[in-house]
Amino acid sequence: MTWSYWRVPPFITSIFFILGVLTLYWVLFNWITSWVHARHINIDDDVINSWHGVIYMLVFVFSMQTSIVGQSNSWEFMNFQIIAIIFCAYFLNIHVPYYFFFPIVLIYMVFNQSIGYWQSWAHAITLITFFWVLNSIRIHFQNHKRAPLIYMAVSVPFGGLLWFWMKFKFNFSWSTFGQEWLYLIIFEMLLYAYVTMLTRDSEFKLRLAQFASHDALTQTENFAAYTGEIKFLFDDSVKNNLKLSMMMFDIDHFKHVNDTYGHLAGDRVLQHVADVVQTVINANDTKVKLYRTGGEEFNVLFPGYDLESTQTIVRQIFVALNHLDVNFGDQQIPISISVGVSTLAAADASPTDFYNRVDHNLYHSKRNGRMQITVE
Ligand code: GH3
Ligand code: MG
Ligand code: MG
Repeated sequence: MTWSYWRVPPFITSIFFILGVLTLYWVLFNWITSWVHARHINIDDDVINSWHGVIYMLVFVFSMQTSIVGQSNSWEFMNFQIIAIIFCAYFLNIHVPYYFFFPIVLIYMVFNQSIGYWQSWAHAITLITFFWVLNSIRIHFQNHKRAPLIYMAVSVPFGGLLWFWMKFKFNFSWSTFGQEWLYLIIFEMLLYAYVTMLTRDSEFKLRLAQFASHDALTQTENFAAYTGEIKFLFDDSVKNNLKLSMMMFDIDHFKHVNDTYGHLAGDRVLQHVADVVQTVINANDTKVKLYRTGGEEFNVLFPGYDLESTQTIVRQIFVALNHLDVNFGDQQIPISISVGVSTLAAADASPTDFYNRVDHNLYHSKRNGRMQITVE
């Protein structure tokens, strides 16, 4: 058995244990958020992060402590527990209200058979204060250039104080106290470096995802996002017998805008059109979604709407854009749009059938003189 010949000091094992626990946290978090997104469940990632963080760390702390509870060495896993607390308070920035915090700590003390020791009470109060201070330095100094130093300036003395109470409770030597505190300081630094690396990586992925699904000029969602959403809505609507409608519009004689006022003016018109439509949508129903599906073509999806109920929003968009004069320098650029609207029909075998009907309606508006709405 090879493993019995490994000579890995416990300190090194601890480092990899902590990194492993954190990595598993991120893997689980990413899995949960992509599961939730795939099902279009409306929960904020921050809410998932908070609940997942609290539950994960409670399971971690309680299950580790189970094996040594009530024994003379029941302080042995304390550094792991402090790291878990720092991770929740500082890096996840979870805010646990005091009326949750005290019961959790009390339950832990009963479970840990330490409720009768004054040192454990001092430890518990120190821990709650530590959590609160970490929360507030995160909020106030997160982007400060000395953020890592501020973090260490808080974590080092609090860690020392927490070990100080345990030194009196368990009566271990000053050298053990010093060693554990030193280990904790090293863990705290590693935690900072590792989480910062992971966060940078996930922020980068988030930016890439945003870039892939949004149009850089107007900041609306793009054709790729539209394709994903219409597929989901089509399947969902067919399966659950839900209504679904679509509006498509195209700016009239846009080539002429470019030719007359220049490409930059054309770009400005596109941005302004997207802003105006989004403002109308926000004022009505944020379930309705706008996409830039082509150069000067936009689609609006109405989940849960039949033709009749789309009328208000379609009209408002139509009127707002046809009365719009876009300012570009000292020029005023008048625009108009042609619109096609339709709703999901039983005969639609795929999202493309549905899309083609709306497209057909739009071109009917174009052929009939533009600046009009065709609904069928
Ligand atoms: P119609 O009323 O039939 O829609 O005529 P139109 O001129 O709007 O249509 P056409 O398809 O002939 O021209 C569309 C123009 O849109 C051509 C293209 O240069 C311009 N366009 C597409 N994307 C952009 C963009 O991002 N910025 C600018 N400035 N122009 C764009
Ligand atoms: Mg056009
Ligand atoms: Mg066009």
